[in-house]
Amino acid sequence: MVALVIMLQRITVAVGVVLFLTSLSAAQDRNTFRVGTASAARGQKVTGTIEVPPGIDSGLSIPVVVIHGAKPGPVLALVAGSHGTEYASIIALEKLIALLSPADISGTVIIVPLINIPSFEQKVPHLNPVDKKNMNRFYPGKMDGTQTERASYLITKQVVEQCDHLIDLHGGDTDESLRTFSYWTRTGNEKQDQISREMVLAFGLDHIIISTERPKDPQASRYLENTATTRGKPSITVEAGHAGTVETDDVNALVDGSLSVMRYLKMISGAASTVQRPVWIERLAVLTSEQTGIFYPVVKRGTYVEQGMKLGYVTDYFGNVSFEARAPVAGVILYICAVPSMTKGATIASIGVVAR
Ligand SMILES: [Zn+2]
Repeated sequence: MVALVIMLQRITVAVGVVLFLTSLSAAQDRNTFRVGTASAARGQKVTGTIEVPPGIDSGLSIPVVVIHGAKPGPVLALVAGSHGTEYASIIALEKLIALLSPADISGTVIIVPLINIPSFEQKVPHLNPVDKKNMNRFYPGKMDGTQTERASYLITKQVVEQCDHLIDLHGGDTDESLRTFSYWTRTGNEKQDQISREMVLAFGLDHIIISTERPKDPQASRYLENTATTRGKPSITVEAGHAGTVETDDVNALVDGSLSVMRYLKMISGAASTVQRPVWIERLAVLTSEQTGIFYPVVKRGTYVEQGMKLGYVTDYFGNVSFEARAPVAGVILYICAVPSMTKGATIASIGVVAR
């Protein structure tokens, strides 16, 4: 009897070892998950940097956090601050760094809260002041380029290529009064589009731009989300916050949205809170100024306007009206210029045309 029990125990141990090895081989390269200098074992949250080496201009250390969940699952990348003064999106990721616990997570979360540190520190909107480039236009990047291009290359290699899904977080910049919205990219790949659609609905913002015109070539992907999307990874872009503010509602929308997508992907427990009957935007109409001068808005972000409606006006520096800004189409004001500074050709407003 004792012999039989020992034999059964040996069989059980043997079966256990076989099962263990099977699961080990499936996730072998994921026992530790490394991004830049952050190397996390299962169940760990580790901080580090993606080191962009000096090249034709200076180097850059981009902060990164790897939260390697206790259980296996998908890899989700959350990235903000390619525009370093879109503050609400950066603060939302700072909150998520503190909030997420590897013990509760199935899968891995890569958080890059602030790519464009020079923009943040110098309070320069839209561009990286080091090379005057927009840090969400040069993907997939290259190592023999300027700082923006080298950073884009390393983010492509270390973040995009290692993730299964990506959420790129943005908002209105210091000169943009923006209403929250998200982008859903329709690629034509039915399976991928269905997952990204469910992600964008789970994120919960109620105005969604259907994006169909971004480059299809992975080697000319330009935008971060599009770099993931053109590599077959269902991904979305989200926007909340405006004009240099960090409002609780905007930050919460981004934090709650990210958590809801994690629930949809079954990375944390609970049901995703999917937005019901969102407004789908089929295209954007950008209204630009025909004159340099002082801008006075007469509508606010989120206003629904008819074609021809006055959105604001521009005066010269003596107060004489030089340009009347009228809506080129009917739609919703997704953002409108938040400051009086206006130059010829600059954006006055972006109007979302609602899909019928
Ligand atoms: Zn942005």
